[in-house]
Amino acid sequence: MSNLATSKNNAITILSKLVSFPVLGGESNISIAKWIEDYLTQHGVHFTNVPNEEGTKRSIHCRIGPAVDGGVILSGHTDVVPVEGQPWETDPFELVDKNDGKLYARGSCDMKGFIACCLAALPSMVKADLKKPIYFAFSYDEEIGCLAAPELAAHINSTYTEKPKFAIIGEPSMMQPVVGQKGMVIYKTTINGSAGHSSRIRTEVSAIIEASRMILWLENKMNRLIEDGRVDKRFNPPHTSIHCGIFERSGIAPNIVSDSAIFYWDVRVIPMDKGVDILDEFKTYSRALEKINREKFPDFKIETVYDHSDVPPLDTPEHLEVVPLIKSLSGKEELITVSYAAEAGQFSEAGFQSVICGPGDIAQAHRANEFISKEQLEEGVEFMFRLIEEFSN
Ligand SMILES: [Zn+2]
Repeated sequence: MSNLATSKNNAITILSKLVSFPVLGGESNISIAKWIEDYLTQHGVHFTNVPNEEGTKRSIHCRIGPAVDGGVILSGHTDVVPVEGQPWETDPFELVDKNDGKLYARGSCDMKGFIACCLAALPSMVKADLKKPIYFAFSYDEEIGCLAAPELAAHINSTYTEKPKFAIIGEPSMMQPVVGQKGMVIYKTTINGSAGHSSRIRTEVSAIIEASRMILWLENKMNRLIEDGRVDKRFNPPHTSIHCGIFERSGIAPNIVSDSAIFYWDVRVIPMDKGVDILDEFKTYSRALEKINREKFPDFKIETVYDHSDVPPLDTPEHLEVVPLIKSLSGKEELITVSYAAEAGQFSEAGFQSVICGPGDIAQAHRANEFISKEQLEEGVEFMFRLIEEFSN
């Protein structure tokens, strides 16, 4: 068998091992990290860990090839989303081949499939006469807010004396190059009003009413952005969206003014907008509401905190060198954008020309009966072999 055919077979074997570690976002990933590290060691590759403070989780990075500038980072995350309450037909943590051309398991698509392609191609990467290096960067806690990638990217920058140039984030994109991604952030706002008899509503401060004003303010803010021409046609929808998805149970009785309200709101920004600008304006409005309401109730308070860290958008200009590189590796000319959050914007902020490109369809991610087609997994391995060839010249 050729190296390519062997690697394609190995990708399935490796994927079945990777999906057997039920590591959810937020949980310890030591089990899967150790397995990957052992695999790297078996192939003579020295790796570096980036642990969390408690030592319960760690990212891994390594270099294959010479210590020279211009290398490419292949980035993936080792955690997956929960399966609870989903109608799975098979064990989600076992790779199941139903002989329909698809391999089923949680994480098969998002995104252990990509990691399996990286690891399956590793023996060939090690053997090749690489002129420029390939790096692996595997993180944890991606699914709960892309929490580990900034530290991992910074660690790569400080560990190696040479400077990697590119980062390919292997989120499922059907191997289509993605150059733009919306950013996202979630905030939690808590309002402290005054309790009292409902007949006194003109003298008390209802937390529900003030929260409602603020939620409507958010909708107006979104509409104002659109009216001001803050539109990027590459995305669907082509504007920043602001939305309140949880208004927590507030108040205790219909005839008592509610003294507390909590709501959560998410912002998905196009690259020209910034979540923090919207937050600043929201806080200015909050201070104005506090000023008015404290005349009636001095303890009136509005507090807004992060519920999900601010994940920056990705906006890779077409003139950058990563664009022809990813076109040639993927064999696809068309560049697309996506509206899901990923680590790509964070790698871009760390100074690497970044794109998303990975096997599998994002439509399968996070669902019951998640799968990756064998064809996509094979395309992922072929991608790795084209990279080896490209970097051996
Ligand atoms: Zn993912």
